[in-house]
Amino acid sequence: MCSALFVNGVPIKSVMLVANNAFFKAGRLMVSSILQGGPSPCILTDWCYSALCSKSIMTPKDIVIPILNSEELTELKKIDEVKSDNELQTVLMTDSALDLLELIGYQGVPSKEKMKNKDLIVKSIYYKLYVEPSIPAIEQLREGMDIYGFADVLHNNPTSFRECFVFNDKNLDIDDFLNLLDPQYSPTGSNRREKELLIYKHFCDMVDECYNDPQELKLENILMFMTGSDKIPEIGFDSKIEIEFLHGCRENCRCFPIASTCALTFTLPVHDYIQSPEIMSQVVLEAVIQGIPFGRV
Ligand SMILES: [Zn+2]
Repeated sequence: MCSALFVNGVPIKSVMLVANNAFFKAGRLMVSSILQGGPSPCILTDWCYSALCSKSIMTPKDIVIPILNSEELTELKKIDEVKSDNELQTVLMTDSALDLLELIGYQGVPSKEKMKNKDLIVKSIYYKLYVEPSIPAIEQLREGMDIYGFADVLHNNPTSFRECFVFNDKNLDIDDFLNLLDPQYSPTGSNRREKELLIYKHFCDMVDECYNDPQELKLENILMFMTGSDKIPEIGFDSKIEIEFLHGCRENCRCFPIASTCALTFTLPVHDYIQSPEIMSQVVLEAVIQGIPFGRV
């Protein structure tokens, strides 16, 4: 989960990016993509999304800390894992913990600290190290998103838009993918239709293989080739993807399937040599690698 502006779901801590209004532009792009039926950004961490939806100033109490497993968080983890007042006091008295306490403006006495305050201490350190430096970028992102009143809509419906913004590693589902396809067969009983049914069967078997045992070709690659997006947009595509069949190629023709990402059509050449899902897979893989959605070779 990495981009030029975000790392691990959080804006990069760069005052220069903020100075260049980069997050404002990112906010505009994110919302435009969602409103126009494009792919959802899905790159933010939970607390970052909550901060984006909120109109009030975020404090350490609002933070839900992700699982602490990064090396950077080792010191914080030591404090988080203590189970008694004694353990807490011992950890807080170490040099590294005292440095962190100074950083958060701690006013207590570490040698007398109680477990009831542990959560706030941990959250405050996390906030200081990871949240506070991102706040200008998040505010700029929110400003950028305020197009057609979207910031208000987001503020009032945080749950509805969570999936559009928060990172998830949910893979494309095969049923969702197959439901997008709308094969345009020739009339029933025709010779062409028989060939189309067979070619489409090989295609669907290949899709099944890509889903259950992904090798070089993944379901996401095929969707990307067909539509220009490797995910199904939250509001869906404008229409189903029409599967068209190309007949009448010359003998030994090896032309590739072609896609029109604007018209949402995918044309499968009906070649006699494509007699198995494996051969279909090679053909589609070659087309995807060559990235020739509009051309025919
Ligand atoms: Zn051909």
